[in-house]
Amino acid sequence: MTARNNIRGLAMKKVTVIGAGIVGLSVAYHLQKQGADVTVIDKDPAGDKVSFGNAGSIAVMEVNPAAMPGVFMKVPGWMLDPLGPLSLRPAHSLKMLPWLYRFYKAGRKNAGLPLHQALAALNRRAFDDLQSMLADTGLSGELHRKGALIVYESDAGFEADKSVWEMRKRAGVEAHSLSSEEARQLEPDLGSRVRHGVFAPQAGVVSDPKVLTDKLREWLAGHGVRILRGEVTGIRPAAHGTQQVLLSNDLRIDADDVVIAAGVWSQALTRQLGEQCCLESERGYNTTLKDPQVSLSREVIFAERKFVITPLSCGLRIGGAAEFGGISSPPNYQRSEALVTLAKMYLPGLDSGRGIPWAGHRPSTPDSLPVIGPSLAHKHVFYAFGHGHLGLTQCATTGQLIADLVYGHTPAVDLTPYSIARFQ
Ligand SMILES: Cc1cc2nc3c(=O)[nH]c(=O)nc-3n(C[C@H](O)[C@H](O)[C@H](O)COP(=O)(O)OP(=O)(O)OC[C@H]3O[C@@H](n4cnc5c(N)ncnc54)[C@H](O)[C@@H]3O)c2cc1C
Repeated sequence: MTARNNIRGLAMKKVTVIGAGIVGLSVAYHLQKQGADVTVIDKDPAGDKVSFGNAGSIAVMEVNPAAMPGVFMKVPGWMLDPLGPLSLRPAHSLKMLPWLYRFYKAGRKNAGLPLHQALAALNRRAFDDLQSMLADTGLSGELHRKGALIVYESDAGFEADKSVWEMRKRAGVEAHSLSSEEARQLEPDLGSRVRHGVFAPQAGVVSDPKVLTDKLREWLAGHGVRILRGEVTGIRPAAHGTQQVLLSNDLRIDADDVVIAAGVWSQALTRQLGEQCCLESERGYNTTLKDPQVSLSREVIFAERKFVITPLSCGLRIGGAAEFGGISSPPNYQRSEALVTLAKMYLPGLDSGRGIPWAGHRPSTPDSLPVIGPSLAHKHVFYAFGHGHLGLTQCATTGQLIADLVYGHTPAVDLTPYSIARFQ
């Protein structure tokens, strides 16, 4: 029992969180802060996961869903381009039809505004919530608010995105248009390919997402949260309104409440509970260059080519790509190499030696909204997954919202848009 729990009190809730990615750990932090006795279960708590290798951006300006009107028309071009941002493995395409149909519906005219508002409601709080969690856990030094530079290589691309920036600004995102010279003043190593820029000062970056996740897990373990290794196979109601979490090694863990924060694997657990979800692995790739011979001082987003470069403490990380091929297909690291080829087009001095390739599964919903809220049928089960491209950005906010639900407080954000009910 932690000192914090001793002070708080008498009826200590026992809560089990499934998943030790950045979302599960943030949920565990907020529950522990409310006074819960928390156990986190993960099949490999310190193992590589998408929370380790992401781009490290606190991308609060990303308030538009992926399924914007017109996106479907661009898909064939992206898929035919060997350096393009999108690929769909043929063997997986039939299985993806329900997801693709929902993605298509989310992209129809007038469907996007509520999604945009729901994303903005989370992102508006995201930086402050993260800052507060990191301050309390002694990890403030891992977060830096340096803004993000979004660059365009064509007038047409810049013009086409103007409506997107207008929407973002209406949602409270600060953005300043820059000429190519102004963009290069911010980042002198960018080459002449850059024709326009937008500076978004509210964005941030973490020093290294793996270091952050490791340190948060270690902090929790040192402050009374049990971190257990085990693969959860199901959850079932037990005596007196409690829940029993079933593990593959036949172990059972009793809990008052259970939170599913198992990233892309969450769907298997919601199905076991009889609730449908629409979640796909959107595999992303990156290459981290330890000694790139160029430097950037903030995240740079390449708007038309849909990739990002972030300066992290472990090197310059070039990341992107969206590959739909299912959870068990092997990674294709040629995509990591393709990202380096793209980066060289914009950073002429880039030395691509000593690159470390990586791939991870984004847990993606067709409407770009995470699933945050209670199970529909199981009173003491809660969902915190499906954050797609924004799990690091939204982790602390999600943790706060789930802790409020578990403790019966009114969450600061209306959770209706994120409910799993939308998939039933
Ligand atoms: C290339 C790339 C770049 C990205 N860049 C950014 C970025 O800049 N900013 C941002 O905000 N987001 C970014 N993301 C997205 C972000 O990384 C994810 O949204 C986030 O990490 C998801 O975290 P999670 O905790 O939900 O999932 P995970 O990190 O996948 O954690 C889930 C955990 O659950 C465990 N688990 C699963 N099933 C079970 C089970 N049955 N029993 C026990 N344990 C189980 C797994 O072992 C795993 O540890 C990026 C993603 C990619 C691929």
